[in-house]
Amino acid sequence: MRVLLVEDETAIANFIAEGLEEESFAVDVAHNGREGLRLALDNLPEYDLILLDWMLPGMSGIEICRAIRKENKTVPVIFLTAKDTVDDVVFGLETGANDYLRKPFAFEELLARMRVLLRSATGEQNTFRYADIELDVETHRVTKAGIPVELTQKEFALLELLLRNKGKACRRTRIIEKVWDINFDHDTAVIDVYINFLRKKLDTPGQPSFIQTLRGIGYRVNDDV
Ligand code: CA
Repeated sequence: MRVLLVEDETAIANFIAEGLEEESFAVDVAHNGREGLRLALDNLPEYDLILLDWMLPGMSGIEICRAIRKENKTVPVIFLTAKDTVDDVVFGLETGANDYLRKPFAFEELLARMRVLLRSATGEQNTFRYADIELDVETHRVTKAGIPVELTQKEFALLELLLRNKGKACRRTRIIEKVWDINFDHDTAVIDVYINFLRKKLDTPGQPSFIQTLRGIGYRVNDDV
């Protein structure tokens, strides 16, 4: 899952970005309004959710939200705001945001709101399975045959992407867009490294890998189990 965070206060931006990365989100951070708008419009199809500070230098979160909604009606947008009068909140939601969070907020609260929006955007599903492998987005746990398996953030994000798209080819470009952020240096060999990590941790010995290699295209987890 890839998230855009537009927030000018560095401490808050770092706090949110680090928390989300621990939850295996890829996070792009913009520190002012114009940069936020540029990133949003350049990468809209890649973002699964957008977090917008309300008061930003250069351009307000409201203006960015309006511009996003012109291009994309569905990507979930959450405002992060110190403004808390009812009028402001109504105004914020009228611009097309899905939810808002008043600063200061607990990270867990942000995560919970994000999960609700992401769930309705992707069909209410929290757990994804293949054979005896199960991934739970909410608890951020993976098990094989009921036994917990420790995955790194990127391993988890990659497995989540593959399982969400079971039966479909995950192209290499899409994997990069969804699992890595904008600072990624575009050496896609890193994908193969992480696929191998997943295979080592989750394949059943003596059986073909649960992840199929589609030569020149990407990877796929079959739909038939
Ligand atoms: Ca601000």
